[in-house]
Amino acid sequence: MTKKVALITGAGQGIGEGIARQLATDGFDVALSGRHLDKVQRVADDINKNGGNAIAIQSDVQYKDQVFDSVKQTVAKYGQMDVFVNNAGIAHVAQICNTTEEDLDKLLDINVKGTFFGIQAAAAQFKKQKTPGKIINASSIAGHEGFELLGGYSATKFAIRGLTQAAAKELARDQITVNAYCPGIVLTPMWDQIDEEMGQVNHVAKGESLKEYLKGIALGRGEEPQDVANLVSFLASEKANYITGQAIMVDGGIKYV
Ligand code: NAD
Repeated sequence: MTKKVALITGAGQGIGEGIARQLATDGFDVALSGRHLDKVQRVADDINKNGGNAIAIQSDVQYKDQVFDSVKQTVAKYGQMDVFVNNAGIAHVAQICNTTEEDLDKLLDINVKGTFFGIQAAAAQFKKQKTPGKIINASSIAGHEGFELLGGYSATKFAIRGLTQAAAKELARDQITVNAYCPGIVLTPMWDQIDEEMGQVNHVAKGESLKEYLKGIALGRGEEPQDVANLVSFLASEKANYITGQAIMVDGGIKYV
């Protein structure tokens, strides 16, 4: 393949790190963006050490100018951009009745507005290049079914599916595809946080909430970032050229849609 370029948001740990490493292995030059430069720099350095090409960019996705600037930095370094992965996201554990307006705003700002800005920035760059492009968004099993104690989070992940469909329709004429991945219970720092906070709300020990959720996985194990990265690798490749507007489950058998 001719050298292609991918930007991945929230690439300093967890699923984003897994995706960045996989796309580098696939032959992409990768730009890793994140709120904390030291975290994305660590992953980028490691990719470079192992024969890949990576840069680290500090960017907080809730700010439109920072998202557009991350694309600018990527193009300044690599000359183009072909894939944009809107991976950055946060979770928040609380009953809907106990969710503060501030917590809800934060969820919406990062998960929904952040992805919205990512679509805008990526589409603008692809159109400028007059090249096909691929936008890949992070939804979730919680984007297909509302989960208890994750009401605000579920709302944002449902929103990503709607946004993915609308963007796919609007951008198809420019040969830009827009799809989403829907992971299940991925063993990342996000689930450490969810487990701990669910434990506090339900008065159960650390690890117990995760254990309950793991019981519901048909394939019998928790999900690894690599499981998600494998799907994103496909969606970012030319093999997925004819797929758009889809939110694809990768959950080991939790939700059947
Ligand atoms: P994580 O918390 O382990 O990592 C998320 C990364 O995003 C972190 O590096 C964090 O610094 C970054 N981030 C957060 N807010 C940001 C912001 N405003 N700007 C830039 N970067 C920001 O989470 P993860 O498990 O790797 O999840 C990645 C994505 O996958 C998220 O969108 C999440 O909602 C989604 N997802 C996760 C799971 C799961 O089980 N872990 C399941 C379904 C979907």
